[in-house]
Amino acid sequence: MPAVNITRRAWLAAPLVTVAQSEEGRVMTVRGPVVPEALGLMLPHEHLFSNFGEDPAEPPHYDEPALLGAVEPYARRLRELGCGAVADATAAWFGRSPALLRTISEKSGLHILTNTGYYGAASDRYVPKHAFEEDAARLAARWVREWREGIGRTGIRPGFIKTGVDAGPLSEIDARLVRAAALTHRDTGLTIAVHTGGNPESAMRQMAILREEGVSPEAWIWVHANQVKRGEEEALGRAAAAGAWISLDGLDETTMERHLELVMQMRASGHLARLLLSHDGNSFRAGGKRPMRPYTLLFEQFLPQLRKAGLEENEIRRLTRDNPARAFTVRRRGA
Ligand SMILES: [Zn+2]
Repeated sequence: MPAVNITRRAWLAAPLVTVAQSEEGRVMTVRGPVVPEALGLMLPHEHLFSNFGEDPAEPPHYDEPALLGAVEPYARRLRELGCGAVADATAAWFGRSPALLRTISEKSGLHILTNTGYYGAASDRYVPKHAFEEDAARLAARWVREWREGIGRTGIRPGFIKTGVDAGPLSEIDARLVRAAALTHRDTGLTIAVHTGGNPESAMRQMAILREEGVSPEAWIWVHANQVKRGEEEALGRAAAAGAWISLDGLDETTMERHLELVMQMRASGHLARLLLSHDGNSFRAGGKRPMRPYTLLFEQFLPQLRKAGLEENEIRRLTRDNPARAFTVRRRGA
């Protein structure tokens, strides 16, 4: 009975199609969705390249041969050091280029995530005019479209939402960006990374906005949390206890000791499972005009330091593999 066989085969195939469309449980890279376990050791906040400091432009203009000549060997070096994946935090209007990221990913074998959203720090210099005129729902619709249809004409889909807020109390436009990010999360399940810095008051206000929109702080990354002032560290524990991801992402030679101190504090308060580690490096800054900021220190110096400080291998694994994989897995997280 061939007709029955065909029907049965079609029925068996149907659930697979549904899973692929929703992307729940996957991580969206510039080369498409992967299972979280495929990422390996991951850096959750770096910039392979950016035009930060230059005039806003979307899409950006780069000297592509110069950019690829600088970034490709660096991406291959990261692979040699054992790095499997990078979340690229360069947002629209200051240099995001999904197509270049895909080229670099293909050539190096590194998994790379790009983002949707607008960056509201740097005194809103990189917030496009229309964002001041549209409400959060309109902005979210733009970002959700990038998730569904891809960015521009590239067909490349974002792996997370990136926004930023300025120092001090949350401004009206920055609050709107955070709200738009929450609405986008509700439709997409993408995680929201917000450039916040050492500003506990803003962190708490952002989490309140998420909750107002029915989104759990588990969907939110406190980016640059390492900048928290001495004496205000308990705010990191409070945010982690609420479910937020705490991103200690300013690793360099001068800040390594402070990062170590913060990791040990979070470990002592039982919050290692919410921590992320990265450098905020950049291998092609301001279109190549500024010296690069390396992002290899974690492998070369910081992980050995953590081991010396007594961290066990399962804790190192958690910080460098399990946490980022969980943080960037597409999943709707309701409040
Ligand atoms: Zn950054």
